[in-house]
Amino acid sequence: MRFLLSNDDGILARGLAALERAAAPLGDVYVVAPDREQSATSHSLTMHHPLRPVQIGDHRWQVDGTPTDCVMLALEALIPERPNFVLSGVNHGPNMGEDVLYSGTVAAAMEGLALGVPAIAFSFAGSVLRADAMLDDHVGTIERILRHVTALPAFPEHTLLNVNIPPIAASQVQGFRLTRLGRRAYSDSLMRMKDPWGRQIFWIGGGSVDWKDSAPDSDFQAISDGFVSITPLHLDLTHRDILDRAEQWWRPL
Ligand code: MN
Repeated sequence: MRFLLSNDDGILARGLAALERAAAPLGDVYVVAPDREQSATSHSLTMHHPLRPVQIGDHRWQVDGTPTDCVMLALEALIPERPNFVLSGVNHGPNMGEDVLYSGTVAAAMEGLALGVPAIAFSFAGSVLRADAMLDDHVGTIERILRHVTALPAFPEHTLLNVNIPPIAASQVQGFRLTRLGRRAYSDSLMRMKDPWGRQIFWIGGGSVDWKDSAPDSDFQAISDGFVSITPLHLDLTHRDILDRAEQWWRPL
């Protein structure tokens, strides 16, 4: 078994170290990760300047680019053989509901899938500060998922798994729940501030998150019930239901 690991918190992040520790007993681990934090870079690709990978260890490169750059470079150029899985994370913070559209962590997994490699994104669904303190405790939780998934007779086609780990001690985790993406509502996430020269600036982030739906099968509900949430995602954004009901909203031109 061969794994490619990346993340969006940068190659020094504790979450990446935790993921490495979880994957190492199962096979060969290659790490190609951004040289600095790239959270919320979504699926962006660096096209207007070159990328310079630096090999910093055995099976280990840092790249001055985005998570998507890292996975593309790894699969197309840096690592000698195709991995069986691309693993991304563990992100220091949740990636649930619409977060997956902004997330660099999920984007790295998406890039693996787009290049034909099954992928899993892992996120710690608590605050950044708690992630630092609690990630090591969840190495076993992640390893259990990896052991299960790598033993499957077939990983589902065109699918990535988006895993969120609840912000509680590993011994308190209630189990694993298959979920769908919930829907959230951020409030006060645009901070109005002044720069040191008194000019108006804005800082996106912070605020509070409310969830618009608390359906029992949502990712948010699983986390709030103390379960690990596992949401299968695919890259096809087509709204199939609305296509099936086209006669209700579209007249042939
Ligand atoms: Mn991040």
